[in-house]
Order: sequence, then C-alpha cells, then structure tokens
Amino acid sequence: MTAIPDVTLNNGQQIPQLGFGVFLIEPQDTVAAVSTALEAGYRHIDTAEMYGNEQEVGEAIRRSGLERGEIYITSKLNNDAHEPDDARRAFDESLKALGLDYLDLFLIHWPLPTRYDGDFVSTWRTLEEFYREGRARSIGVSNFQPHYLRRLHGESEIIPAVNQIEVNPYLTQDELRGFCAEHQIAVEAWSPLGRGNVLEDPEIATIARRAAKTPAQVVLRWHIQRGDIVFPKSVTASRIRENIDIFDFGLSANEVEAITALNRNERTGPNPDKFAG
Ligand code: NAD
Repeated sequence: MTAIPDVTLNNGQQIPQLGFGVFLIEPQDTVAAVSTALEAGYRHIDTAEMYGNEQEVGEAIRRSGLERGEIYITSKLNNDAHEPDDARRAFDESLKALGLDYLDLFLIHWPLPTRYDGDFVSTWRTLEEFYREGRARSIGVSNFQPHYLRRLHGESEIIPAVNQIEVNPYLTQDELRGFCAEHQIAVEAWSPLGRGNVLEDPEIATIARRAAKTPAQVVLRWHIQRGDIVFPKSVTASRIRENIDIFDFGLSANEVEAITALNRNERTGPNPDKFAG
C-alpha cells in the first residue's frame, strides 16, 4: 500500500491526510475499531470529548505498542466548556482520558454564536495558551464560517491551523474552502462520506466501476485530490481497510469535476450559525 501523504500546516507541523474518525463509535466498540485501524496502517485518530470514547482511544493506542510520535491525535473542546477556566479543565481532562501529555491538534468543536454572548474569541485565546505551553502541537477550529474566522484574525494572535467542516460531494463548500486556502488554514472534511448518503449516487457508481474501486474509495480519493484532510468512520474491519486503500489509483481532473458538480449545498449536520450545542 502506498504511504499516506502528509499535509503541512501553517505552523510547519505535519498531519497525515487520511485518518480514522470515531464519532458514534460506542465506547465498548472503540478499542477494537481503533486497533483494527492502527493495524491497517492509519496513524491519525480524530476524537472529541463529545464522542465519549477518548479513554478507549487512549487504550487502543497503548495496546498498539506504537510510539507516541508515530500517531497523530486530535480532540475537541466540548460545547459546555467555552469559558476559559472550563476550557482549561476540559483540556486537562481530555489529556487525562487519553493518557497523553500532549495532543497533536485541539479544536474548538463548534463556534456557538448564540451562546457565551457570542464570545468564541476568549475561548480561542485559551487554546493559544495550550499551544504556547506545547501541550497542543497545533490548534484549530471546527464549523467556523468566514465571518468567525475574520473575527479571530482581528482579535487574536494565532491563525487556526485547521478548520474542520462538513464536506462531501453533496456539500462541496468551495467558497469556505477557498477562504481557508487564502488564509493558510487547512481544511478537514468531516463526514467525508456524507454518513453513507452519497454512496448510492449513480455518477459516483459509474466512476467507481471505471476505476475498479468502491464508491467509498472514489469519494475519499476525490477529497484527497482536492487537498482536504479526511477521517472516515467505520466499525467494520473490511470497510476500515477499504477506506485506507485509496493511494494506488487516481481520478482524472474531469472525474474530480464531475463529482464536485454533484453539489446540492445539502448538510447532514447542523448549521453552525444556528447550532447551540
Ligand atoms: P462518514 O462520512 O465517515 O460516514 C460514516 C458512515 O459511512 C459509517 O457509519 C458507515 O455507515 C458508512 N461507511 C463507512 N465506510 C464505508 C464503506 N467503505 N462502504 C460503505 N459504507 C461505509 O461520517 P462520520 O462518522 O459522521 O464522519 C467521520 C468523522 O468526522 C467522525 O467520526 C468525526 O471524527 C468527524 N466529525 C466531526 C464533526 C464536527 O462537528 N467536527 C461532525 C461529524 C463528524
């Protein structure tokens, strides 16, 4: 299998472009799923306090026998912990649950513009502390629209290394991705398979037949060729292995465009301007 490429972030740190997401994996299934992913060659795990499985992710990492430096680990600040003191406590608790002394990447999970008097800036400044202390090697945001990113730009010092946003062939997000590219913010595409919704699409099925790959592999390859970072989720060993087996083929520019043209601006998750956690 060809190696997973790294993406270099705006602070020089490198992140594997493909990882493993653990949202909606039950705690009792997490050690097995993450162990299967690590055995299959994944070296990047995306979790969050909200997912309730940080402890099990940590357990799978310890059982793998891999060195800490070989695995890239992201977690995210919970929606109930945006006040600076709460954020400090939550960050410590995430580290403790995972059994780690640093995270590779820590994100504000949602901007929550209707809560905390719309103040995500003091939350971001608290993440800047974790970065300066070296306890978060990179910091970033998730579900941030350009107007929130502009505010951070004007009122804080560090530019987020990533913005983790919902992207799939039915929600291509090209405007927001363009804004992030202009500001050296890497895009992480969450729910890259649209939680399975895009896998029945006839155009994607045709391209998959031509490439002798599965629809899931074609969609993940489309993300990779657009430059986004992805971490598909599955608890099924064969799918976990299938989703990493995407580095031995390529889509033509026309195929990438044909998939991008499927855009319907259709979200599977909440609208960040309205979501209150
Ligand atoms: P996804 O797009 O990765 O889809 C997962 C679902 O697709 C699986 O449950 C399974 O039903 C199906 N699937 C997976 N592989 C398949 C295959 N090879 N063939 C057929 N079907 C397959 O959805 P997700 O889990 O919601 O997103 C991935 C990750 O993104 C999450 O685990 C999490 O880490 C992250 N995420 C972040 C946010 C955020 O707000 N930051 C929100 C949602 C998800």
